[in-house]
Amino acid sequence: MEDWKRILAQSITKPKDLAKHLGVDPQEVEAVVGPYPMRITPTVLSTIKEKGDAIWKQVVPEAIEMDDIDAPDDPLEEDTDSPVPHLVHRYPDRALLMVTNQCPIYCRFCTRKRLVGKPGFLKKGELDRAIAYLHEHTEVRDVILSGGDPLLLPDYLIERILKALRTIPHLELIRFGTRVPGTLPQRITPELCEIMKQYHPIYMNLHFNHPDELTPEVKKACGRLADTGIPLGAQTVLLKGVNDDPEIMKQLMHQLLLARVKPYYLYQADLTKGTNHFRTTVETGLRIIQALQGHTSGMAVPHFVIDAPGGGGKIPLLPNEYLLNLNEEGALLKNYENKTYHYPQPNETRTRELPMVDTTTPPALCSNGARDAF
Ligand SMILES: *Cc1c(COP(=O)(O)O)cnc(C)c1O
Repeated sequence: MEDWKRILAQSITKPKDLAKHLGVDPQEVEAVVGPYPMRITPTVLSTIKEKGDAIWKQVVPEAIEMDDIDAPDDPLEEDTDSPVPHLVHRYPDRALLMVTNQCPIYCRFCTRKRLVGKPGFLKKGELDRAIAYLHEHTEVRDVILSGGDPLLLPDYLIERILKALRTIPHLELIRFGTRVPGTLPQRITPELCEIMKQYHPIYMNLHFNHPDELTPEVKKACGRLADTGIPLGAQTVLLKGVNDDPEIMKQLMHQLLLARVKPYYLYQADLTKGTNHFRTTVETGLRIIQALQGHTSGMAVPHFVIDAPGGGGKIPLLPNEYLLNLNEEGALLKNYENKTYHYPQPNETRTRELPMVDTTTPPALCSNGARDAF
């Protein structure tokens, strides 16, 4: 067995093992792990420092997950936007392909809590249907492999999917959304990198929520992917008691850049059933962006987005403070130090007052037969 598979198999999945390693009462979690499975990899277990810390909260099941009975299972209505099984086509030029329900760890705040944990990978026939759909839809130029976690597939299945995608002439980008580098870094093998190299351009967005997740081993795994020529982005979920603090978030963004990962999205937590105890106010996210913008490298500032309930897609939010006023004269701006500045508009008001030029008649020919230069 490959090393990473053996290490994944050593993960905590049973309440009695959780009791043994973390002293949690198995009775408390028994009822939770039925509907919402648990998996904690050795890497993640080793980064837990104490009960209830930022890593613990992300992976240790809590009874409160079962209290949240009114919230929707699928707040983003992904099932409604699915033209063929396992494919979500919401935006005009890109689509999401869910290739497994397996993950290295089961985040307690998962948006797809309704789906994850079930065994198995995308079957050959299901892949064929998704590929056929993508062949027909020539507007799709970007496919995101998601799940579950696509890097839990064995190498031969990853290669099968990449090969099939690269038969689609209009497909430009292949992206992976994955939490594997931060939770099962042993999976990033030279063999996997060799496969990836054959199918560029490949991009990856890695899931990280707390600076403690960037251990030396994890940073090395990110480095191997970067050396493979894969541009790395990070997706972070804003979580109460985990990272809802500007200082922690700044440390996370700095650690990501050190690991050669560019912060991409900061997500407001979704409304998913069983996850509401993680939600923060919208102002919390805006304050974090404000604390980053201008105060540290622009490279360290992600886009803060809310994935609109009801399937509206990701909507970016910026603190209101920067643009104080805007009219024909100019923009009144406030910088990160609360100082105001004026940027004048280009002088378009005069041209607006000129009589309208008749654009229906073609410009006169010059004597040499060429048209007048505009
Ligand atoms: C997030 C998402 C994408 C990708 O969005 P980008 O803004 O291009 O990163 C595509 N499809 C669905 C359904 C998504 O949720």
